[in-house]
Amino acid sequence: MKEIFLLKLGEIVLKGANKRQFESKLRQNVRRRMKPYGNFDVYLMQSTLYVEPMDEMCDVDGAWEACRSIFGVVSLCRCRPCEKNTDAIFDAIENYLGDDLDCAKSFKVESKRSDKRFPLNSIQLSQEIGGRLAEAHPDVMVDVHHPEYTVYVEVRDLSAYVHGPAEPGAGGLPTGVGGRAMVLLSGGIDSPVAAYMIAKRGVEIEAVHFFSYPYTSQLAKDKVIELARLVTRYSGRMTLNIVSFTEIQEAIRDNCPEEFFTLIMRRFMMEISQRIAKQHGCGALITGENLGQVASQTMEAMTVTGAVVDIPIFMPLVGMDKEEIVTIARKIGTLDTSILPYEDCCTVFTPKHPKTKPTLGQVIAAEEKLDRQALIAKALETVEKITVKYHDEPGL
Ligand code: ATP
Ligand code: MG
Repeated sequence: MKEIFLLKLGEIVLKGANKRQFESKLRQNVRRRMKPYGNFDVYLMQSTLYVEPMDEMCDVDGAWEACRSIFGVVSLCRCRPCEKNTDAIFDAIENYLGDDLDCAKSFKVESKRSDKRFPLNSIQLSQEIGGRLAEAHPDVMVDVHHPEYTVYVEVRDLSAYVHGPAEPGAGGLPTGVGGRAMVLLSGGIDSPVAAYMIAKRGVEIEAVHFFSYPYTSQLAKDKVIELARLVTRYSGRMTLNIVSFTEIQEAIRDNCPEEFFTLIMRRFMMEISQRIAKQHGCGALITGENLGQVASQTMEAMTVTGAVVDIPIFMPLVGMDKEEIVTIARKIGTLDTSILPYEDCCTVFTPKHPKTKPTLGQVIAAEEKLDRQALIAKALETVEKITVKYHDEPGL
């Protein structure tokens, strides 16, 4: 007898008028995410998405892993469907969960009956099934207050379903309901986490990376491509725009006072990112900036770098501790790649004594000798666009 997944929808259940749009987006996202794993039917009933393998060829474990990273799902469980009568429910539990039950010291049965035509109410059903299980497993105690293991029975429209405890889902909102934003993706720990956090709010992600060959190596570029790929596990496919930044950095080095190098460089990054963002229909930029981490991440510095853009700059990590950021990076699987020791263009030509409290006037004066717009136009001509997706199969 086969296994199916039940995905419970999170915040989207609360969203009134938007509910239908959110649900259909989520169903579409789940369908797309199941494709690499075989032929799955995905349907929505009673604010629950059902993911059902349609043949023996399906990679059920792979599909399950993928479901755990889909935004908009608050919790999920693998379960076994069975006929809607107590004998079938009892047999399904015995076959499907019997071993788990034997490993526990105590258990209870929790039932939910959304099909009101079922003759027993939820309490009666729990009592009936709990009693029969207690007889079949005399070494496992019934404990309705603090059971070690809970057996769940859901009597729904199509079938009854039995399962063990649900797992937490990825949370957030379904990708695509919150517009699109462009992350400035470095090779560090922070920016992939920042991208993940905004993607979690239902936002589609595109990325831009500034690359300073030969000061930064091909390995550094490959690392960023891999980080983008890891983020697509959550966000869906993205375009990674690689901007050649060498000429701009050399122009800054040759023409500007050293204490402003980083700030001027970051103003170029922001302005170029905004131009590319607009080409991709992105309504905001995302950075991994974090208050006080380095000299370019003070309020004054953020004012100066933000002054060149007119769309919002999302900095979801701005108030977090490094430890908190590292914990998320570990959870989403980007940490090991982020800590590979390749250089970033920010570390090329770093000033010995960077200006920590710059004013906009000082920075504009320091940029005086540069033809900013000509440099930006030239950099935009060299942009390399790479489509990044989690799986390599065509058509996904
Ligand atoms: P990260 O861990 O993301 O590299 P960081 O703590 O090293 O961040 P900075 O180097 O000051 O901080 O960079 C701040 C933000 O600027 C980064 O989080 C990223 O969004 C953006 N950024 C830095 N370097 C690049 C780059 N080479 N390409 C694209 N964006 C970059
Ligand atoms: Mg960095």
